[in-house]
Parts: sequence; C-alpha cells; structure tokens
Amino acid sequence: MDIGLPGEDSLERHAVREWLERHPNPTGRELAEAGYVVPHWPRPFGLAAGPIDQLVIDDELRRAGVRRPINPIGIGWAGPTLLYAGSELQKERWIWPMISGEEIWCQLFSEPEAGSDLASLRTTAVRDGDAWVVNGQKVWTTIAHLAKYGILLARTDPTARKHRGISYFICPMDADGITVNPLVDMTGRHAFNEVFFDNVKIPGDHLVGSVGQGWELAKVTLGNERVSLSGEGALWGQGPTAEDLVDSVIRAGGPPDRVTRERLTQLWAEGRVLRILRLRGISAVLAGKSPGPEASVRKALADTHGREIMDLAKDLAGPYGTLNGTGPLTRLSQASSEGSVCVSDDSVGAVTQERAKADSTDSTWSDGFLFSPALTVGGGTAEVQRNIIAEKVLGLPRELDLS
Ligand SMILES: Cc1cc2nc3c(=O)[nH]c(=O)nc-3n(C[C@H](O)[C@H](O)[C@H](O)COP(=O)(O)OP(=O)(O)OC[C@H]3O[C@@H](n4cnc5c(N)ncnc54)[C@H](O)[C@@H]3O)c2cc1C
Repeated sequence: MDIGLPGEDSLERHAVREWLERHPNPTGRELAEAGYVVPHWPRPFGLAAGPIDQLVIDDELRRAGVRRPINPIGIGWAGPTLLYAGSELQKERWIWPMISGEEIWCQLFSEPEAGSDLASLRTTAVRDGDAWVVNGQKVWTTIAHLAKYGILLARTDPTARKHRGISYFICPMDADGITVNPLVDMTGRHAFNEVFFDNVKIPGDHLVGSVGQGWELAKVTLGNERVSLSGEGALWGQGPTAEDLVDSVIRAGGPPDRVTRERLTQLWAEGRVLRILRLRGISAVLAGKSPGPEASVRKALADTHGREIMDLAKDLAGPYGTLNGTGPLTRLSQASSEGSVCVSDDSVGAVTQERAKADSTDSTWSDGFLFSPALTVGGGTAEVQRNIIAEKVLGLPRELDLS
C-alpha cells in the first residue's frame, strides 16, 4: 500500500512551512488553533483534512522538530467521544484545552470487579437536584494523579439491565471527595492509580449524551483505544520495533545461533504484516469509517508480537539481562570481543563496542521487557480481543452471559 506524498514544492507543504516560519516554536495552543494537533477532526478543532494533507502536516512538523502536545487519553479517547455525543458547550469548553495539552485527561472505567466485564461496574451516580453524587472505586487509572479531568462511567439506574443503566460523565479530578492512591508497577514507576469516590458532586452539565447512554459511548471510547494502542513500536506503538532489534543484532555481528536467527526472521515478518494491517486501519479511519472489530485483529497480533520482541531482546542479553538498563547488545558485544560472533573487521568491533556501551546505559529494552506483560491486558485482554474477533469478524455464536 503506497501512499504517494506531494512533492517538495507542493502547495500543501508550502502552507505548513509558511506557518512554521511564522511560529518557529509553537505552543500547544497555537498548534491546536492552527488545526495541526488533530487535522482529521472537523473544524474548528481540526481541518477536516484528508489522508494526504494529514501525512504532509505530520511530515512537515517532524522535519521542523515540532512535537504535538501529549495527552493520549484526552486526544485519543475522550475527544472522539465528545465529538460523537458532547453538546456544543461541552466541546467548546473542554476540547481546546484538551488538544493544546493544557488539561490532561484520564480514564475512570475499570473497577476491582469490572475489568473485561466492564458493564458489571458498581460505582454509582445518583441525581441530586442539578448535580450527580458519585460513590465507588476505580482502579488501574493511568495518570489520574496528573489529570485535570477524567471520563467516568457510573451506574445511574441499578434496576436496568447491566448495559443499560450506565451513564458517561466528565469528572473534575480535583472535586471534593476524590482520593487518588498510587500503584507502583514493577518498572518502579508510578503511572497507575486507584481512585476512590466518596460523595463526589459532579455538575449536571458534565453528563455526556443522555442518561443511560454510557455503554454506547464507552464503546466509542474503547474502539478508538484499540486504534490508538496500535502504532508501529512494540509497546503500543511506542518503543523499538522488530526491525530495530534485527538491525541491532546485524550491526553487532549477526545472530549468535540458528534458533535466534529463526526467531528474528519470524518477528521481522510479523512486523511487516502488522505494518500492512496498520496502514489498512489508518486508511479506513482516514476515509471516515469508525474503527471496527478489525482493530481487534491487529491488537491481538501486535500485543503478542511486542511481548516476543522483548523476550528475545532479553534472551539475547543472556545473564546480563538480569541487570536493569541492559539491552540485547550487551551480551553480543561481549561475545564478539571474545571472538564467538563473526565480526569481519576491527572497525565493526569498535562500532559494536560503542553501541553496546550506549545499549547498556539505555533502559528502553529492560523497561520494555518489564512493561510487556501489560500489553496483553490493557485496552482489552488478549482473550477478550479473541472473543470480539470470533463474534464480530468470524460471525461465531456469542459467548454465554452467565452473570
Ligand atoms: C498498562 C495498562 C493501563 C491501563 N489503564 C487503564 C486506565 O487508564 N483506565 C482504566 O479504566 N483501566 C485501565 N487499565 C485496566 C484494563 O482496562 C484492565 O486491566 C482490563 O480491562 C482487564 O481487566 P482486569 O485486569 O480486571 O482482568 P479480568 O477482566 O479480571 O481478567 C482476568 C483474566 O480473565 C480473562 N477473561 C476475562 N473475561 C474473559 C472472557 N469473557 N473470555 C475469556 N477470558 C476472559 C482475561 O483475559 C484475563 O486473562 C489498564 C491496564 C493496563 C495493563
């Protein structure tokens, strides 16, 4: 699937370059107002840009070294849901600071007893005059401690069937009665939190869509989550790819044995297949289609692929892999200096040593390995993705609901 981009002198490129000349160090707000943060969104937040224009904008921003604001849950998930069902007032109030990165968002969906079976959630929202009073607990809430707002699912009608009694709110994270406790993961970092709600008052105009529409809106959010989580890098679109691993090994003198060579080849081939699936998904979204169940096909493959890349990188590091901050080159370089890996001349050996030094001070691989078990859990577990594929893509009978 070739995407031909307009040439260097094209009008499309010229317009972006001219803007960048006038804004050499643009703020998030300037980028947002120019429509360059989410060019595919409708105006005024985006430019309703078609596929080629979007790729040109990406290309020109990258060349100029300009980075877009980082607000993944806001821009990737909450924003599309507000565009889908938010009132004009809600869009005007929340989308500008969201896409300019001024207000960070989190996602308050999962609960201790409601992860895969999200519709079993027990957090309640009870109407109190114009407001809603929320009680309950959420868990695994990424960046809740940094967020200004959260998208919140709460049960507003305990008597309705479980998917029907849920509503979707915008929750101010500094409201009275909210407690955010850190959950430190095995990389030693604090990204997750548990969030407690004790009689938290949420204004009535923070309800998105209508009462009871929460499950429909959750599906909009989670559909976009699967697309957002499906980038090129091994760790949900971030981090190194299979090609990076192959490249490192080649530059370090080649795979140490046949089994490793086969594993590398397999991962490289999978990486190619995933790239094509990704391009397919992108072109569908760019053509205005909503992310369908096919996004689950890519996620199911990409998550396992990511784990296998990190496993192989760890295996390549051998005993050095038990140390933090080591990567796949650490042992290869050791082996090459001892002559057990074919290194053709001294200059390659020198490059290898140099890269290994960089490799051993870079925690990308070791952190990636520790994070990789999360790949097949977050954004819908591997088993849940397979259920979606079975039912929605293959047309197999629905799973029995035993709850
Ligand atoms: C990195 C990361 C970030 C996250 N960030 C957020 C966040 O910001 N906000 C948020 O709300 N949540 C977040 N989560 C939580 C995530 O959505 C849940 O972990 C996920 O939905 C799974 O739920 P659970 O952990 O309760 O596992 P469970 O649902 O309890 O599943 C346990 C096991 O049972 C299997 N299983 C469950 N149901 C079925 C079934 N029907 N068929 C077959 N097997 C099944 C699962 O596949 C899994 O192996 C995050 C998770 C991760 C890993």
